[in-house]
Amino acid sequence: MQRDHEVVIIGGGMVGAALAARLGYAGMNVGLVEQGAPPTPPEGDFDLRISSLNARSLAFIEASDTALPEERCCTFRHIEVWNQDGKGHSHFSAEDSGMDRFGVFIENRTLQYALWERLERMPGVTLYTHCAPVSTMAASDARVIELDNGKILNAGLIVGADGARSTLRELAGIEITTYDYHQRALITNVETELPEQDVSWQCFTPTGPIAMLPLPGHHASLVWYDSDTATREREMLSDESLKDAIEAAFPKRLGSLIRVTGRASFPIRRQHARRYIAKRLVLIGDAAHVVHPLAGQGLNIGLHDADALAETLLAQRDVGDSTALHRYEIQRRIANQAMIAATESFHHLFTGAAPLRRLGDASLQLAERFPLAKRMMMQQANGLNPFKMR
Ligand SMILES: Cc1cc2nc3c(=O)[nH]c(=O)nc-3n(C[C@H](O)[C@H](O)[C@H](O)COP(=O)(O)OP(=O)(O)OC[C@H]3O[C@@H](n4cnc5c(N)ncnc54)[C@H](O)[C@@H]3O)c2cc1C
Repeated sequence: MQRDHEVVIIGGGMVGAALAARLGYAGMNVGLVEQGAPPTPPEGDFDLRISSLNARSLAFIEASDTALPEERCCTFRHIEVWNQDGKGHSHFSAEDSGMDRFGVFIENRTLQYALWERLERMPGVTLYTHCAPVSTMAASDARVIELDNGKILNAGLIVGADGARSTLRELAGIEITTYDYHQRALITNVETELPEQDVSWQCFTPTGPIAMLPLPGHHASLVWYDSDTATREREMLSDESLKDAIEAAFPKRLGSLIRVTGRASFPIRRQHARRYIAKRLVLIGDAAHVVHPLAGQGLNIGLHDADALAETLLAQRDVGDSTALHRYEIQRRIANQAMIAATESFHHLFTGAAPLRRLGDASLQLAERFPLAKRMMMQQANGLNPFKMR
């Protein structure tokens, strides 16, 4: 069968676009299908959707020669975690962990825009916008995908990077398991009197963590996890009342706020696809798994999927080779399952019943006493191999 592309990726979010950029940069013929419009350049106030990119994710983005605008990124070299209810307090430093930085915080749309800008300059990449798949069928040497604008594409492999509510996953008949944490995250961007520095911090409370992610200059993104009702009530407050509520609930080290520049809230769920692959089809990013965002790892593990898949595909003559896809699935499922288990334990250890919370507190105190364990934990969280000698 005549192929239009070697690989067609459904979903041009951060994970899909990053995979397209890596494959396109390596000279592969790639089609990227996005239901929305191309992203627009970031400007003005910082966007509400902010993510951390760890060392492995940054290296993967750089491997397609994509440049991130420094003025909208904030490098962080320290992480502090403590328990409001006890004595547990851990400080992680990039230097002590053998790294020059833990990563950067960046707006989702800035990263997506940087990737699309790169894709537009790649001759092997075709961008299809304002369209979505309606059906798909596998033949022995290709998979066919029909789009809602009537276009039909043939490719050696179709990749589903179309987010948590993936249409491709549904069309392929892949089921998911889900868990509702009965929590909601209120995200607010604030302007602060003090300049934010290269420290990201998180304080656990019995109702959920509160976290500060630094942004360039006098800006920060705050995340406040709580019950659905409490979060929705807070979201309805006036700017002035929300500012007062933040100043009262957040640790004093945040300093005074000048203004709240935006807010939104998200339900917190876990989701995992029962399979990542079908014949000449593979799921990556949130289409395959959604983890609790408290450790800031959802996007990172999605980019690690894209990294591992790119490595697999670039080493194959036939991108749809089932043995290679199977190996990819095993490798990524183990890593993603470990991340789900880790975020799950954090959640239960700090918001569970009192004995569990005491255990959580003790584990933070214990971690502080073992620098080697902290170093290994941070390397693992950054997608690096903690057992590799450097
Ligand atoms: C409150 C909160 C905070 C978070 N903080 C962090 C963090 O600090 N660090 C981190 O690593 N992660 C974080 N995450 C997780 C992170 O946002 C997600 O893991 C990430 O956005 C997933 O990227 P994706 O490209 O897989 O999916 P998405 O970002 O959902 O992108 C999917 C893309 O596919 C397109 N699409 C959808 N359906 C179709 C279709 N049928 N056809 C064509 N296109 C389609 C969409 O328009 C979109 O462009 C956080 C999540 C939440 C909720």
